[in-house]
Parts: sequence; structure tokens; C-alpha cells
Amino acid sequence: MNNEFEDISENIKRIRFNMEEAKVKAGRENDDIKIMAVTKTVPAERVNFAVSQGFELLGENRVQEYLSKKEEYAKNAQVQFIGHLQSNKVKYIIDSVTMIQSVDSTDLAREISARAVKQGRVTDILCEVNIGGEASKSGFSPEALKEGIYEISELPGVRVCGLMTIPPPSESCIYFEKMQRLFEDMKAAPPENSAISLLSMGMSADYAEAVKFGTGMVRLGSALFGARNYSV
Ligand SMILES: *Cc1c(COP(=O)(O)O)cnc(C)c1O
Repeated sequence: MNNEFEDISENIKRIRFNMEEAKVKAGRENDDIKIMAVTKTVPAERVNFAVSQGFELLGENRVQEYLSKKEEYAKNAQVQFIGHLQSNKVKYIIDSVTMIQSVDSTDLAREISARAVKQGRVTDILCEVNIGGEASKSGFSPEALKEGIYEISELPGVRVCGLMTIPPPSESCIYFEKMQRLFEDMKAAPPENSAISLLSMGMSADYAEAVKFGTGMVRLGSALFGARNYSV
């Protein structure tokens, strides 16, 4: 037995246990809550081990880093983009990611749509919400969200599938609750051509909490792969 990735195996056991426990506590035993493996700074071999253990959904933050690793990734990996994306870099990733979760402006959505249309595809996106109103984070303000989503839903090359957020670190619960409300409101009155069904929130420090507030996908980096030597 190769123990090179024993640390990841242990982390996976802990994550599965914690997720089950959180789901039971929240009365969500039967919900399919996706777990994304966030790969920033993690070598492709370690990522591929996680893929082999059932973590096939990968989250990428940086275009350059992704392009340098993507050929090495296992073929059954499914990649989504979750980092800040400049419009001029959309063209490098659009043909190989299944979703862009970090759409933080109508301009970015326009560029994604234009590129997608050129390739004859429709790209699934989430709108990122700056739920804590932090200057350091991008995303729609809660106030601007609805109008933004309606505008974006008119673009032919994107399909709005839901919302993503990174809340202020210390008070996740307050913000998870606000996000849940925003998400339920959008779901109740979805724009035409949208498919609002996914709320992406919860990271290593707070994923069990996010389960309480209706998350459909948690995104785990350090809880799965260990501490990063620098933060992104
Ligand atoms: C880094 C990152 C994560 C994972 O962070 P951890 O705290 O290591 O789990 C999740 N989502 C986004 C958008 C990130 O940039």
C-alpha cells in the first residue's frame, strides 16, 4: 500500500464524517451536497489522488496555474473556475471548465457569453456575491444582485445556475443566512433562461455551518490537502 498520500486519506475520512454529521444535524441526510476540491498551490499528483478517492470536482483559482497543471489532471476530473477572472483571460479557460463560479460583474458575463457563442456553447455560471461588503473582495453587492442577474440572463452564451460567496471569515453564519435568503428569493422569481439551483458556500473553516444554511456545494482546500504555504 502506497502511503504517500496518507494525509489526504485521513482528511477525506474526516471530511466525509463531518459532512454526514452536519447533514444529519440539519435534517438534510438525503440532500446531494457537492464537495469541491480546491487545488491552488497543490501539485497535480496530490490532486489526482483526491480525484481517485471520489473528489472529481476541482476548483481552480488562477488561470496560469490551472493551465500549467491541466494536462496532468486525471481525465475524469471535472474543473470549475472559482477565482477572480479578468475578462482578457476568459479565452484560455472557457473550453475546458464546466462552470465559472466567480462571475463578479456584468462585463465579465458579457465576455464569457461572447466567447461561448463563438464556440457554439452555453457556459454555466454562478454570480459571486460580496455578501460582507468587503473592499478586498469582488462580487455583486446584495443590492445590485437581482438587477445584475436579470441583465446577465439575457446573454445568449451563459446560463445563470446560482450564487457563490466567500463570507467574511469570522462571522460566516450571519452571512450564510443572508445568502440563503438571497438565493431563495432568486429561486422564487428566476429570470427567463436561468437555471437557479446551486448555492456554493462553505470552505474548510466553516463548511459544517454552511450545511445548516442550505449550501449545495462546499469548496475545500486546506481541509483536504493540508495548509497552503501562502494564501490566495
Ligand atoms: C481557496 C478557496 C477556497 C478553499 O479555501 P480553504 O479555506 O482552504 O478551504 C474556496 N473557495 C475559493 C473561492 C477559494 O479561493
